[in-house]
Amino acid sequence: MTIRLPDKVDKIIKALCGAGYEAYAVGGCTRDSIMGLEPEDWDVTTSALPQQVKEVFGGYRVVETGIKHGTVTVVADGMPIEITTYRIDGEYADNRHPSEVRFTRTLREDLSRRDFTMNAICFNPESGITDEFGGISDIQKKCVRCIGEPSERFNEDALRILRALRFASVLGFKIEKRTAEAIHLCRQLLKNIAAERISAEFNKLIIGDGAGEVLLEYRDVFAVFIPEIKPMFDFDQRNYHHYLDVWRHTVKVVENSEANKVSRLAALFHDIGKPAVFTLDENGVGHFKGHAKQSEITARNVLNRLRCDGATISEVCSLVLHHDDDITPSRPLLKRWLGRYGETGLRRLIDLKRADNLAQSEEWRDRLTTLAECEKIIDEIIADDECFSLKSLAVNGRDLMALGIPAGARIGEILNELLSAVLDGKLENEKSTLLKYAEELK
Ligand code: ATP
Ligand code: MG
Repeated sequence: MTIRLPDKVDKIIKALCGAGYEAYAVGGCTRDSIMGLEPEDWDVTTSALPQQVKEVFGGYRVVETGIKHGTVTVVADGMPIEITTYRIDGEYADNRHPSEVRFTRTLREDLSRRDFTMNAICFNPESGITDEFGGISDIQKKCVRCIGEPSERFNEDALRILRALRFASVLGFKIEKRTAEAIHLCRQLLKNIAAERISAEFNKLIIGDGAGEVLLEYRDVFAVFIPEIKPMFDFDQRNYHHYLDVWRHTVKVVENSEANKVSRLAALFHDIGKPAVFTLDENGVGHFKGHAKQSEITARNVLNRLRCDGATISEVCSLVLHHDDDITPSRPLLKRWLGRYGETGLRRLIDLKRADNLAQSEEWRDRLTTLAECEKIIDEIIADDECFSLKSLAVNGRDLMALGIPAGARIGEILNELLSAVLDGKLENEKSTLLKYAEELK
């Protein structure tokens, strides 16, 4: 087995070795290469101290990204490569930061501080692959396994708990038994981890192909940093539309929805407000009136707490709030929705509705046809470049002022009336037609 290094990485490793140091590609890049995946970035580990690395790469742009932890980034022809000195982490005082970082001269010591066996495989063209902890065999078994004693490793840095779940979701791996037990056991330690670090891992996890399985099996872990999901667990909906409890239904919707962060988060939160608004009618049937609004409120709270960015929060919340709205295959209405949500937004809303419907009782999946019809009409509107917002209306405020309409609120009203007439197919989106009509309105 060998690994093909990009030229720039090869050059960097050879430069370090040529200067008398050891240097290897390590971490995600070797793992992904062995799995036949294209690595996103390349990390290098070396016996050279940061100062020595800087000397070797005097002619390059060098950024001191984490010099305290031994990391410098060398930019080789536009490609940033992180070079980290072999190190051993000292005591971890708070389940996240080692209180000291000691550099070491031995590769094995550096490899043993890494999180999982599959992330401790290193490679250089001279010596080939070094795999001290059985990483290749675990990759072949599709197994996430801690290096060393799992609960000790999670006590050192609790983020590893979430990294394990992320790798399981994204790579489709199973978590080895003792590692899995320690994850459940140590889950409360995640409380000590900064929201930003949690979010970064969670956002990757949620778009993985295996997200559903991980959400089911490790729901107790997610409930540590999103306790709002707990009421969904095993919550019987007592409604003929549903054959699954709220959490299992939610997990299916996540699996069914498009693999992007916004859609998956919206799927996760779309019914989170259900338990709070549950009512039972005289026939013993459960109802969830107002749950979309309640879900939106909760989603916003959670996402704010997780330090999610504003754009993502508003996109996710809009999907959650509207997930139960009726969307009909009517051209004028679809154009209005396109104007309101934008093309991506509306397509995501339809995708969420489809994912939701697919996770309901089989005899209630009739909405799928309607949603497909809607998509077909949207495709046509987009392909024909039809007008659906003020932006693409053939006249603007200045044109109206040129007709003698004074600047002010009336301009906006007239523009909206014109748009409405265009959306309803009453007027062509054509300048002279619209101006003529505006004359009548003014
Ligand atoms: P990705 O594909 O997301 O980049 P990765 O494994 O490369 O995955 P990075 O966060 O880039 O993840 O980390 C690079 C390497 O550093 C890991 O492969 C692992 O060897 C080590 N590492 C990262 N985070 C930790 C951690 N919290 N504890 C121990 N080792 C870690
Ligand atoms: Mg990486």
